[in-house]
Amino acid sequence: MLRIITDFDGPIMDVSERYYRVYHFCLDQVQYPGQSLHRLTKAEFWQLKRSQVPEREIGKQSGLDEPQAKEFALLRRHTVHTLPYLIYDKPLPGAIDALERMTELGFELVTMTMRRTRELNAALDQYNLGRFFHIDRRYCLDNDHAKTSDIEDKTWLMGTALAALPPIAQTWMIGDTEADILAAKAHEIPVIAVLSGIRNRDRLQPHQPDWIVANLSEAVDIVIQQSVVTIP
Ligand SMILES: [Mg+2]
Repeated sequence: MLRIITDFDGPIMDVSERYYRVYHFCLDQVQYPGQSLHRLTKAEFWQLKRSQVPEREIGKQSGLDEPQAKEFALLRRHTVHTLPYLIYDKPLPGAIDALERMTELGFELVTMTMRRTRELNAALDQYNLGRFFHIDRRYCLDNDHAKTSDIEDKTWLMGTALAALPPIAQTWMIGDTEADILAAKAHEIPVIAVLSGIRNRDRLQPHQPDWIVANLSEAVDIVIQQSVVTIP
């Protein structure tokens, strides 16, 4: 048996539209009357996010002064995970096909995300994705969980999952950020990084995932190839 632990945002969901709308909302909130701003295109904005450029810097590149950029970053952090914006998320092209393929292959699917329970459920319901993840195969943060950092939280969540889940021959992790890679490595699980999320290759490479591929579908191909090699 083979278990795939997949991150949710990045391998499965495209959050770029949500983040971009929140970007405009926050600019609107901090803009001085009559101030002209340089609003980034969605492509420009997303490229900065994937390069891990800090929010304050994105604010400054959009024409904000230092105090505005600080406020912009704070407001953005409080807004980006709220339900009114979550509706802008949508499954990445090919992601549902990849989930269906894994299900047909008999892989056990687990999702592991820094979303809170209500945020995860909103997306599972909106796109009927709950069918892929049994209720006790969904690892997320409680609604009242006090977040520390994604790396610490994800490594902790991975430990919780591995302690609770029944033993299985092989476990794989798929994710789109350094938090996914480091959590998997801390627990000695092979990890495939995907480029369909919020990090580019330059940001992922230094963390040395076992593979870097374009998307969830290519990650499934890797798992299949490697399993053929290791399971006679
Ligand atoms: Mg992610």
